Parts: sequence; structure tokens; C-alpha cells
Amino acid sequence: MGTAAYVELWSKDPASADALIKQVQAEFERINQLMSPYIASSELSILNAKASSESISVSPELFQLLQRAAEISTVTKGAFDITFASVGFYYDYRQHKKPDASQLQQAKQLINYNSVLLTAPNQVRYAKQGVKVDLGGIAKGYAVEQAIQLLAKAGVKHALVTAGGDTRLLGDKLGFPWLVAIKHPRQEDRYAAQLPLIDTAISTSGDYERYFIEDGVRYHHIIDPSTGKSSTGLLSVSVIGADTTYTDALSTSLFVLGLQQGMQLIETLADYEAIFIDENKNMHFSSGLAQD
Ligand code: ADP
Ligand code: MG
Ligand code: MG
Repeated sequence: MGTAAYVELWSKDPASADALIKQVQAEFERINQLMSPYIASSELSILNAKASSESISVSPELFQLLQRAAEISTVTKGAFDITFASVGFYYDYRQHKKPDASQLQQAKQLINYNSVLLTAPNQVRYAKQGVKVDLGGIAKGYAVEQAIQLLAKAGVKHALVTAGGDTRLLGDKLGFPWLVAIKHPRQEDRYAAQLPLIDTAISTSGDYERYFIEDGVRYHHIIDPSTGKSSTGLLSVSVIGADTTYTDALSTSLFVLGLQQGMQLIETLADYEAIFIDENKNMHFSSGLAQD
């Protein structure tokens, strides 16, 4: 998934702890093999290669994640859109590659989450030629959540799993809250905030994770589906809530929506809170956090 994962857990038996960490590793690998758009044999790659021409059978697991992505697209009025990939695939942040003006113009018209047709249970078809899907805004959170559920089922009571910007805490840290830091969006050696958290998920989306700067413009990995370009206005958004699949997708969504619309949306979601860092590096907290 293009990032390091970190697992911390408490167990009385070191051998079983080692075995569990190996299971978590295997689970990440399994999900990557299923959902990576860069692995030619993944179910997602097969969809991207064929679903514009024919209806494709997929696993219930991939189907369910596509359903959740669609649900979040609806709630965010398209700020979250897995078909951003028609534009996204032109980028290579390491090589400083981006689409040229005509590629962007063409690819941007293919961004529309309604083009991913979930026609029947476990059947997927794309409405148009050229539609592409990338689950990079939700799959890592899903994997982190799966990992934590695996540990919980095995009887673990205190654990932390983190991958890139997605972190899930199981229980507390042996009687204390976990302290989770939010990176400072412009200074690598500083934190913007530290939060005491118990048994919850937190995901952060920022414009500083995968980017390059050319002619003063920051090209980063969060794409505004309405323009096809990197989303501007915020430096970072963190979302806190029960399920890492949703905190992941929502942090990406709120980043695109911006402070005003993003805040409005998060206030309608009872169990989710957010922290926004704006262009002036000012922090804004949703009401459930501001009280503490
Ligand atoms: P990270 O990858 O650092 O966890 P995010 O959770 O914000 O950061 O996810 C960013 C990823 O989401 C991008 O790399 C890309 O794969 C995907 N993405 C970018 N823009 C969108 C969008 N508008 N809707 C859905 N997914 C997106
Ligand atoms: Mg995300
Ligand atoms: Mg993420």
C-alpha cells in the first residue's frame, strides 16, 4: 500500500503475540493483492481493465468496499470519488509527473462515482470507456480496521495499528489513553497537536504526504473531483471516529470539501469529529472536540 505499517499489542505470551503480528501482516498483504490498482492480477485491476466492456463478478469483500465508497460519495456530494483515478493515474509524485492540459481536460470528464454500477450483488460494471477506480482513499483504513478486528477476535484487549495516515486503537494503553500526535503540515520535527484517545480510529489527510512543487504550485495526492486538480484551501484534516474505513474516507473527503463545507458535514455525523488545519496553519475543531 505504499507505506509502512506499525503494530503494537499487549499479550502475556510472546509467541502468540508474534503469531498475531504475522497474521496482521498477512491480512495487509491479502487486501493489497485484492485491491491494489498497481498489481495486474488484483480484482481491482481486472475491473479497471474490463468493466467498461462487460459486467464483472467480484468478491463480496471488494463489492462491499465499493458500496461503502459509493455511500460516502453520496454523503459528501462527490467530494469523495474513487473514479478520480482517471486523472490520478497520470500522476507520479516521485517522478514529478502530472497530466498535461489536454489529458487533464479529457480525464476529468470521466470522474463520476455514478459510473461505477453495482448492478447486482457482487457484479460491477463501469458505465463508460475510460473509467478507472483507485481505492487509495479508503483501502488503507479498511485494512487497519480489519487488522484490529482480527486482534480483537483473538482476545487482544490493548493494541494499536497504524499505516500511513490511518490509526486504530483497540482499548486503552493499559489504563492510560493512547497519545496520538497529528503531524505539523509544514515542519517535520513538530506536532500540530497531541490527542489522548481510547478505542477509536483517527485518520489524517494532508497535502504534504505525496507531492511535488513545480513553478510554485503544490501538486499533491488529494484530487478535487470537480476540477481534476489537487485540492486547495487546507493543509490537513484529521477525522476521529469508530471505524477506520470511514475515518479514512472522510478525512480525504473533508480535505476536498474545505473548512466551511467540511465542518458543516462533520457536524451532521454524530459519532465523527474532525480537526482542520487551514492555509494559515490555524486549527479548527468540530464541536464534539472543542468541548474537551
Ligand atoms: P493517505 O494516502 O496519506 O492515507 P488519504 O487517506 O487522504 O491519504 O488518501 C489519499 C489517497 O486517496 C490518494 O493517494 C488517492 O489514492 C485517493 N484520492 C485522492 N483524491 C480522492 C478523492 N477525491 N476521492 C477519493 N479518493 C481520492
Ligand atoms: Mg483517506
Ligand atoms: Mg488514508
